[in-house]
Amino acid sequence: MSAKKRVAVVGVGTMGAQAAWRLAARGAEVVGYDRFAPGHDRSAAGGETRIFRSAHFEDSRYVPLLQHADALWETLQHETGRELRRLTGCLLMGPTAHHQMATALQSIAEHGLDHEVLDADALAKRFGQFRIEDGDAAVLDRRAGFIRPELTIQTAARRAEELGARIHRYTTVREIVPAGSGVEVRTDTGSERFDAAVVSPGPWVNDLLPDLPWEVDVRRLLSAWYVPTTDAWFGEERPAFIRTAPTHCYGLPSPDGVSVKLGLSRALHRPAGDPNHLDRTVAPEELEIFTELMGRYMPDLNPDPVRLSVYMEGYTESSRPLVGPLPGNSDVVLLAGFSGHGFKLSPAFGDIAADLALDGTSPRPIDFISTQDRTEA
Ligand SMILES: Cc1cc2nc3c(=O)[nH]c(=O)nc-3n(C[C@H](O)[C@H](O)[C@H](O)COP(=O)(O)OP(=O)(O)OC[C@H]3O[C@@H](n4cnc5c(N)ncnc54)[C@H](O)[C@@H]3O)c2cc1C
Repeated sequence: MSAKKRVAVVGVGTMGAQAAWRLAARGAEVVGYDRFAPGHDRSAAGGETRIFRSAHFEDSRYVPLLQHADALWETLQHETGRELRRLTGCLLMGPTAHHQMATALQSIAEHGLDHEVLDADALAKRFGQFRIEDGDAAVLDRRAGFIRPELTIQTAARRAEELGARIHRYTTVREIVPAGSGVEVRTDTGSERFDAAVVSPGPWVNDLLPDLPWEVDVRRLLSAWYVPTTDAWFGEERPAFIRTAPTHCYGLPSPDGVSVKLGLSRALHRPAGDPNHLDRTVAPEELEIFTELMGRYMPDLNPDPVRLSVYMEGYTESSRPLVGPLPGNSDVVLLAGFSGHGFKLSPAFGDIAADLALDGTSPRPIDFISTQDRTEA
């Protein structure tokens, strides 16, 4: 980079906080904007935990990006002295014949990832909290665990500020318009000019960019916390877990050792509607699927939830995120549509956004998620 570039970060949430950190670390002049403040719980982040894993059950092309993210998680922890991630492992369970199990095993084999395959007896001895069925496999991804989302976003944003970034809190960006060889960012109180902008508005992407040529379907996600009736969940090993099929679901033992958080997959999420008016009330019928899953696979969880929280997330049709320049304005780098699996990768996406905003290109293998020459949604 020659002259110091001025870069705006619109939306300082999961991706924006990481982008601000990576941009500031490379010497850019960074100004962030968020309609709330970093670490809030009214969007895609929140709820104490997110799963980190090294194997990928949807597409093994994510593995190099996960490895880049893995290195940056270590860097951010080292620079700040905070424990943002704990590697407790992640158990993947489900039918051997299902494509997600096959893809996970393929990504493990292709990249030599650290893992263990457990048969039913080994699983019962070591992780007695789970039930599997005939024809199921159980694979422990060992370089996996949980990330603390609120702490991560605040830590990345603070680190960016320490490195010189300014963040405008409670400041909604209304428009980003081309301005000569750069962009102008407009808020209710004024406008500012930048060489480039990283735009990471999460569930507000359709509001901020109504002409986006790809559909981002914003869904309402329910997280539910349950208390175990035995000690099995909080023994020495406390892996996160994912069940692939017939109903995709996942969960994490809470860091405080009290409860277990459960979540569902895309097909079971309702449309969120207007992100400014998210319905946070949970109807008892919404819990039926959780009760059914616990009865079948995790019978020692008490089916009366102790906490329910509602979030939002944007899904693309292919579930591949939109990463790269905005059509018609290469000074705007879009980070959107993370389709339920963006958190673990967020430092990598922040770094890639910094590459694109500062150099116009990234050395990372992002063709399959790039906005450039993208034909599928
Ligand atoms: C319940 C749930 C569980 C999940 N579990 C996992 C998991 O286990 N592992 C995993 O890897 N991923 C997981 N994900 C996905 C992951 O959390 C998301 O992909 C990620 O948080 C998306 O980040 P984002 O930056 O796009 O959105 P956000 O984190 O929501 O950030 C967007 C930010 O933009 C701000 N903003 C919006 N519009 C404007 C505007 N006009 N002006 C200024 N600011 C604006 C918002 O206030 C917000 O702070 C989960 C998601 C949910 C909801």
